[in-house]
Formats: sequence, structure tokens, C-alpha cells
Amino acid sequence: MTTRESDTAPATVMKGVFLPGDATAEVREYPVPVPGPGELLIRTGASGICGSDIGYIYRGYKTHKGLNGKPAYKGVIAGHEPSGRVVAAGPGVTRFGAGDDVIVYHIHGCGVCRNCRAGYYISCTDQEQRKAYGWQRDGGHADYVLVSEATCIPLVAPLTYADGALIACGFGTAYEGLRRAGVHGGEDLLVVGLGPVGLAAAMIGRMLGARRVIGVERNAERIEFVRSLGLVDDIVLADEKAVDNILELTDGVGCAVSVDASGSTPGRATAIGGTAEWGRMSLLGEGGTLETEVSDSLLHKQLTINASWVTSLQGMEDLAGMLAAAGLHPGVVISHRMTLGQADEAYALAAAGTTGKVILVPDEADADVVR
Ligand SMILES: [Zn+2]
Ligand SMILES: [Zn+2]
Repeated sequence: MTTRESDTAPATVMKGVFLPGDATAEVREYPVPVPGPGELLIRTGASGICGSDIGYIYRGYKTHKGLNGKPAYKGVIAGHEPSGRVVAAGPGVTRFGAGDDVIVYHIHGCGVCRNCRAGYYISCTDQEQRKAYGWQRDGGHADYVLVSEATCIPLVAPLTYADGALIACGFGTAYEGLRRAGVHGGEDLLVVGLGPVGLAAAMIGRMLGARRVIGVERNAERIEFVRSLGLVDDIVLADEKAVDNILELTDGVGCAVSVDASGSTPGRATAIGGTAEWGRMSLLGEGGTLETEVSDSLLHKQLTINASWVTSLQGMEDLAGMLAAAGLHPGVVISHRMTLGQADEAYALAAAGTTGKVILVPDEADADVVR
């Protein structure tokens, strides 16, 4: 072998996680990718496991509307919530370079449709060009991830990679819902469902000035965990008396703003019932149905209901800046920090849904980027 050949050969192989769709996660070997025009190679610092990974890929491949029944997951390296350090830049890259720490917005869109131009790559209307990390292109559950520069957002100090992984999806989603509902100082906030997105809504809601945050949760183990974080002022058990208990806590008025992060029909009903007259609500949880009586529950209360999916590139960048300025660390909602080699165990924990967020970090022996 000549020196020239060894120079051009892939520098190393890397570990990456493949999801066969049978409730397991496999660690496989892949070549380390080389960035092309407009691309960056990121050394992964942290990569979150999301509820959507569990529901649409891990337990069995499911489709999304618009995909003609074909599974949304294309057998790539999983993980759409990466954060890490740029180690190499391809030609034509202008904003980021080696050594920069970034959060990766989880979808690259066509860049020219109406939604992309507004920064909502999530809603890109070009199904050929729209590619989500961990779904249609290789994602962050790997030692390295190849990303488009356009999807990178600065990870500003003192945010950590773990914080960045949370902002990449769940915190961005919570922020957008609160932004649309317009929560502001002196108002009470109701958060139904205290999984990672609900906890994000609690932290961001308080940052945006909510006076009091009331959480609703049905899982006793999760309630223990949430109490230890101090992100909510009161926790109401999700049962048939939940609305009465919310009204009692608010002198019969309810909360000015509410967020459903439960994705359940009874959870959404609780959010509607716990919202005050002229209140604003955002639906963030995926799946299921919304069932409600209309006159007394919605019209006569003059309610506004927003349906919100993820956030924009700029929304995510604004949020990261605000959290950093406030000295807040989204990483506090992490209950399990596992290494890439423990991916199977990590997915099983996340699928059990009893705790906070589960994230993957590099194996200890290879932890060359720490933040
Ligand atoms: Zn996610
Ligand atoms: Zn587009």
C-alpha cells in the first residue's frame, strides 16, 4: 500500500445505531463520512432519544401522511437530536468551522419552498429534498454525523452538549408552543404531561415570565423525578378530578396559558378544562384525538387553540440564546445518560416512558469532546 492510498482512505470507522424495528437497537460499524459542499462533519457530543423514535421506528416502522404508506425511517443511523463539535468543513461553508460547537436542527429542507424560507424546514413541502436526520439521512446516534451547514445553530456558552441535544427537538417544540400562546409575566401556566417536552414547557414558561407553573402527570415514578427538579410549583395527578384540582389551585379561574404535552385524549380535555376564560392553549403532543364539548368548553370561554409542530431555525437559535443568557440548563431533565455502546438498554429505558429524558453520549474511552 502506498502512502497516498492510506491518506485518502477513510480515517477511521465509527459506531452508529441502527433500529431494526423490533424493539431493539443495534450498534454497527460505519465509515466516518467526508463533508461535501456546504456540509460539516460533527463529532457528536450528545444525542437524544425522542418519543417519535420510539413510536415510529423502534417498536415497528410506521409511515407519515404523504409517504404513500412507506415507512418514514429509511434504515439510516438513528437520532435526530444531535449536538457536538465541528471537526471538518466541506467547500463553500461560511458560518461555521472546525472547533465550533453546534446544535443540529433535525431536518434539512429544500430551502426554497414557502415553509423553508420561513425557517420551518420541518414543514418543507418537497418530499424528495426534505430529509430528517435519523429518519431519511444518517443521524446523531454515532461517533460522527455529517450535517448541512444550513441546519446548524450555535451552541452558546454555558450550554453543554446535553443541553444542545435537548434544544434540538423537545425544547424547541415547547418554546414554539409557548411563543404562539404568548405567555407573559404574571400569568399562570398549565402543563399537561410532564415528559421531556412538558418539562421543557415548564422551564421555558418560567423563563418567559409565567407566575406559577402547574403540572399534570399520571405516572407516580415520573412525579417523584419532577418534584426533585423544582421546575413546577404544583403537581396535579392526572385523574377524573384533575380539572377541579387545577381550578381550586387558581381560585376557580384556571390558567391563562396551557400546553398539552401528553398527546392523550384525556390529557387534552384536562388542558381545555384547566384553561381560563380568554385563555390560549397549544397542542404539542403527537398522536390520538382531540374530543371536546364545544359551547361551554371553548366558545363561551373565548379560547384560542394553537396546533404547533416543532419550531423554526431562528426560533431554535433565539431559544438557545435566551436559555444561555438566563443560565438555564435543559440537561436537568435528563434522567439517564448512556453511552453509544449501551444504545439497546437506553432505548428500552426510553420506551418504558417512566422517567425523564434519555440521551446517548460517546463511549467513555472515546470521549474526546466534553462540554
Ligand atoms: Zn425529537
Ligand atoms: Zn422546502
